[in-house]
Amino acid sequence: MAEGRYDAIVVGAGFAGLYALHRLRGLGLSVRVLEAGGGVGGTWYWNRYPGARCDIESVDYSYSFSEELEQEWTWSERYPAQPELQRYLDHVADRFDLRRDIQLDTRVTDARFDEAAGRWSIGTEDGDRFDATYCVMATGMLSVLKRPDLPGLDRFEGDWVHTARWPAEGVPLAGRRVGIVGTGSTGIQAATAIAGQAGHLHVFQRTPNFSLPARNRPLTAAEERGIKAAYAERRRQARASFIGVPSSPGDQPAVDVDAAERAQAFEARWEQGGLALMSAFTDLLTSREANEHAAEFVRGKIGETVKNAAVAERLMPRGYAIGTKRLCVDTGYFDIFNRADVTLVDVRRTPIEAVTPRGLRTAEAEYDLDVLVFATGFDAMTGALLDIDIRGRGDASLRAEWADGPRTYLGLAAAGFPNLFIVTGPGSPSVLSNMVLSIEQHVDWIADCIAHLGERGLGCIEATPEAQDAWVATVAEVAGYTLHGAADSWYNGANIPGKPRVYMPFIGGVAEYRRICDGVAAAGYEGFALTAPPEPAPALASTTRR
Ligand code: FAD
Ligand code: NAP
Repeated sequence: MAEGRYDAIVVGAGFAGLYALHRLRGLGLSVRVLEAGGGVGGTWYWNRYPGARCDIESVDYSYSFSEELEQEWTWSERYPAQPELQRYLDHVADRFDLRRDIQLDTRVTDARFDEAAGRWSIGTEDGDRFDATYCVMATGMLSVLKRPDLPGLDRFEGDWVHTARWPAEGVPLAGRRVGIVGTGSTGIQAATAIAGQAGHLHVFQRTPNFSLPARNRPLTAAEERGIKAAYAERRRQARASFIGVPSSPGDQPAVDVDAAERAQAFEARWEQGGLALMSAFTDLLTSREANEHAAEFVRGKIGETVKNAAVAERLMPRGYAIGTKRLCVDTGYFDIFNRADVTLVDVRRTPIEAVTPRGLRTAEAEYDLDVLVFATGFDAMTGALLDIDIRGRGDASLRAEWADGPRTYLGLAAAGFPNLFIVTGPGSPSVLSNMVLSIEQHVDWIADCIAHLGERGLGCIEATPEAQDAWVATVAEVAGYTLHGAADSWYNGANIPGKPRVYMPFIGGVAEYRRICDGVAAAGYEGFALTAPPEPAPALASTTRR
């Protein structure tokens, strides 16, 4: 059993863990990152399925903390694919000499706060224990996959794989009969990439999704020069926006303009590509009528693309508001249904009953398959945190505290769990935003907070129950102004049987959220209790703020 004593333990080595290590090390703290995977990169290490790609533009979905990094890295495309993002994160790990403090293949199983020492004791699957003043959970919001829960899977004689555990060596697809279950962002990307490679592809769709064209393309050298010359301003605009990307949102409600003007605005943003459509008007997520106009526009596009009218109809999402399940972005998804070697199976109408040794059986038919791909998603936002047995003051368990849904102050901390920080946790804009921007904001806030404690000889910070209660109420209140509550989505736990139904992210926008967090810090960490720890606080070599 190995043991280690550090100022800070960071769990996870994705975008969040890598930057947390860099910042905390910059304060002069001794830091160890514990990562379950065999490499760095988090999401982009695990999700190697065909077609995996980000849907925030590369030049925005990237670190802003180092001007040198920004200037020296060249993105090849508007939306980077998984291999390029993996290369980028490997480069960051090397360039900032992060690897020497990262321990791979190490899964954290428990974290216990020792009140007498004022320190966290962190245990791993291999029985090692680490001990630290601060514990930063950079475990990811979409890192615990939803395992396929279909009877008979263990008897399937072909190959099966979840997209979030796609093997590095790949899965042979050429000429084989492939079935894919799930049509969220992942399923849509994977099906598009697999169609044409497979001998035949069956897409098993339960809920049709709204998907918008990415309009991906290579970035030209001239574009790159232009972006790099004005990067600081671009980042400023992203921070001042709602979801964390530079944007020019419409300033009128859709219900106040006539049909022709609406169609023109939707069409322009459809052509622009990516998620732009949803910022065409101010009321698309608050007014049912406005939302229905956008939904109808997208359904119309599906109808224009898919030649078989019955198939097109089955692909058209109905019964929930556009944008209340995570919007998908695709490159030619709906076109694949015009191919003779792709079949859509509506498993809402004819539910999947079982996996058989030869394939998949629905209420109506049996499909012979060589490969089954599960794009069935994640136990989002709380999954990775609750997989770890986290015990705070008085041995209180986070699992018990969150039994009715996550409770945090600002999505950063939980009352009763001193010196435990969560990066992009439930109660922050997190998954509703450009996550790299939100990760940097959280890590900067955490590092500045630790610097503040160090300067004052304090070493213990804890959210008060009152501040947490008020924040939980605010998150719910803001969500209540939108159409989000009504949809079944992973945003509110509806995808996991038995999970409490609580809208988890803060939907007030990244600019407003940053203002609130900065205000809390400026007021001496309002809503937190700051105390001296039983043991001396870690000495800081530097208290440099960003
Ligand atoms: P992650 O990248 O998930 O890293 C967390 C790490 O923690 C993982 O490596 C995991 O192995 C490790 N870990 C978890 N639990 C433990 C434990 N108990 N012990 C040890 N290690 C542990 N966001 C966007 O903003 N735009 C996009 O276009 C976008 N595309 C996405 C595409 C896919 C396929 C997926 C799944 C997510 C996407 N996201 C996107 C969200 C994405 O998760 C974030 O953008 C970002 O990569 C999260 O970084 P992170 O470091 O917080 O978490
Ligand atoms: P997801 O959005 O939760 O989609 C899971 C899909 O699997 C849904 O279509 C779901 O249907 C289906 N499903 C689950 N269990 C099923 C079952 N037993 N039978 C039939 N169908 C079943 O998961 P995801 O697609 O992996 O995406 C998760 C998130 O990751 C995204 O929302 C996004 O934030 C991020 N992501 C982003 C990108 C990108 O383009 N940047 C790509 C991939 C992922 P129901 O809807 O009916 O439950």
